[in-house]
Amino acid sequence: MCILCDQGKPQDHSGSASGSQLGRRDFLKTATATGVAAAGFNLFAARPASAHDSDPPEDHGRPGRRYVIRNGYVMTMEPGTQGQDSPFGEFIEGDVLVEGKKIKAIGKNLHVGNAAEIDARGKVVMPGFIDTHHHQAWTAIRSSIPDSILIDDGTGTASAQQNYFFNVLGGFQPTLPGFANHYRPEDVYISELFGGLSQLDAGVTTVLDISQIHHSPQHSDAAVKALKDTGRRAMLGFFESAGNIPGNQYPTDAARIAGNLSGHDLVGFVMGGEVYLGDAAYSASWKIARQDLGGVLIAAHILSPFGIRPILDDLAAGTGGVNNDIALGDDNLFIHMTGMSDVGWQAVKDKGVKVSIAFPIEMNMRHGSPPIVKMQQLGLEPSISTDVETNMTADFFTQMRSAMTMQRMVVNQAVLDSGPIPVNPWPPGPGLGNNLPPLLNARDVLRFATINGAKHLRLDGKTGSLKVGKEADIIILDGNHLNVFPMNNVPGAVVTMMERTNVETVIVAGKVRKWKGKLLDVDLRHLSRQLENSRDFLYSAVGRPQNLFP
Ligand SMILES: [Zn+2]
Repeated sequence: MCILCDQGKPQDHSGSASGSQLGRRDFLKTATATGVAAAGFNLFAARPASAHDSDPPEDHGRPGRRYVIRNGYVMTMEPGTQGQDSPFGEFIEGDVLVEGKKIKAIGKNLHVGNAAEIDARGKVVMPGFIDTHHHQAWTAIRSSIPDSILIDDGTGTASAQQNYFFNVLGGFQPTLPGFANHYRPEDVYISELFGGLSQLDAGVTTVLDISQIHHSPQHSDAAVKALKDTGRRAMLGFFESAGNIPGNQYPTDAARIAGNLSGHDLVGFVMGGEVYLGDAAYSASWKIARQDLGGVLIAAHILSPFGIRPILDDLAAGTGGVNNDIALGDDNLFIHMTGMSDVGWQAVKDKGVKVSIAFPIEMNMRHGSPPIVKMQQLGLEPSISTDVETNMTADFFTQMRSAMTMQRMVVNQAVLDSGPIPVNPWPPGPGLGNNLPPLLNARDVLRFATINGAKHLRLDGKTGSLKVGKEADIIILDGNHLNVFPMNNVPGAVVTMMERTNVETVIVAGKVRKWKGKLLDVDLRHLSRQLENSRDFLYSAVGRPQNLFP
């Protein structure tokens, strides 16, 4: 039963009891003006039963087709949007008009002619989340090593024995003990597809896939096909073959793969340029990106283990690579950035390198502390990445809450350590120098999770915020649900209260992919069977027993 009107489902409060498309304030005005006591109306009357499970707007996403998302709590992530109700580009009862792939108008009580309507009353309308680092190929081996750390660091613990580097990537062992070493093209395809759909279902509309799974051109093509078939925005990161499987064509196959993606509406190309593969390898991959491919983005894991700190120092000095002449640039997207020197960080800032932080993974897997405070002190902001589902969900509510909580733990403790309490203004805490950053707030992490990701993938001309002329990558989050109602602070509710079940509708480039809680155009039962078969094959190939309660 509905808690507001005692009938129908809680998400169906259209509020347009008069049958008109007026906003609630206009409705109240109209009711008063016509001499009808507003109290006599049920402002939250349910729509007719036939409308409860109505279909998405006809031909959504097709050229020229228009629909309007009406009366939502709109967070554009674009401060200064005309007509906004807050300085952050937010609307209390806002409309978003979509035409074809693009956002045509944003405002209140938009006049839209005969455009179809999506009622967003009580719901949050915002850009989809953007994940700037996800090993999507590991979907078949999700949660397989939840207690592991990144490498066997010699501590002899159960977490070290379960380590990711050996058990997933194979640890550069000739015996190929890692799951990744045994992937066939069909395993790549189903994991990439299922993982992508899973994130789409959770409101993540853009991803940079970083799977070290390019054992052959057929493996690469399977990844590309899966990203295309998923129907969300994606960048294929062309990374190495874990285990360096004979016959792999990394990095020389880059031009062919990038060529196949050129001009595609939703899927683009990013060069994988891991410096941990050695000077010769990254000199080759960076040269391909910068010279042969005209300056595509180069992504790399830069983190405490694997001896990367001195390599970054070389790059910071412009003396990296085999010929000591490779420098950092604004074409670099670095992941983690844990344990790097001040020299390295200063160069990252000066050269415009982008940084993606995987908060929960870094904290769990001994990558080092997520460098958020360092970034704040330098005036930089990260994007957010989910990393590996072998260890942690790729859900973005988890990411945002982890980011906010981790940063606040560090800063709060620093403040407490500076005592006595209360002190105002707070003195700097130990370890944070003289530059104690402000606590992250809900809008900060929402920015990391949306527009920052778009900027870091060079997609901010198309996505990352709701802005007229950008493509319509929009999610509608239901604020009428038991876990979040009543809404008292919209950014706060999204970050601190919501989760996947609140993701009611997901739109990519104008096309509705999830509608009223259900993914469209997918046969999940069929795909689940394929994924299980792939999982069974991988466990068998790597010689590991399946044990649900190890
Ligand atoms: Zn990674």
